[in-house]
Amino acid sequence: MTRIVLVEDDPTISEPLTRALSREGYDVEWHGSGAGGVDAADTADLVILDLGLPDIDGVDVARRIRDKGLQVPILMLTARADEVDLVVGLDAGADDYVTKPFRLAELLARVRALLRRRSSDEGAADVSVGGVRVDVAAHRAFLDDKEIQLSGKEFDLLHVLVANAGSVVSRDTLMHEVWAADPGAPSKTLDMHVSWLRRKLGDDATNPRFITTVRGMGFRFENDN
Ligand code: CA
Repeated sequence: MTRIVLVEDDPTISEPLTRALSREGYDVEWHGSGAGGVDAADTADLVILDLGLPDIDGVDVARRIRDKGLQVPILMLTARADEVDLVVGLDAGADDYVTKPFRLAELLARVRALLRRRSSDEGAADVSVGGVRVDVAAHRAFLDDKEIQLSGKEFDLLHVLVANAGSVVSRDTLMHEVWAADPGAPSKTLDMHVSWLRRKLGDDATNPRFITTVRGMGFRFENDN
């Protein structure tokens, strides 16, 4: 049975959400504190994590889960749209986020997408080009054998680009591959993530070693770097 750990202190959210997830056939374990969530993550297939918790905030909970070496997907619940930048920008280790108030159907779709990605990653081969290696099964990326810390979306973006190294990947394809669970995501989200990814790779947009912008089309990961 797929085990979901729900870390949320507000019972008006956690109670209906627990019922809905159980109806979908998931085994749900609820925690009202961040500390409880960190412990429970050990055996979870997915963690749904509220950002605002009474003891440790959600960003720290996600970091502690990653610090334990756990690759479990984390779906963050944020109370305000401006918290999204915080979650995405801080490299907390969250794989996706939903802003409150959310529609139950949307949240369940995100849950399914994260679980599906996890199972398709298992047993997948490494992809490597030049100095960059993407270990798909472990959800880790390396630059010149040093690990780079990527958010879930940055990782997916790098994976798609590296898997298609030498070819232009269109903006539409990238939006579809990386933001499939969020079809309403604005296209500038892609540019923000490319920019963060470049920074982490030490790349220069004006004189790229890795990621070249192909104007009007998309992006190309260079295979002769
Ligand atoms: Ca809360």
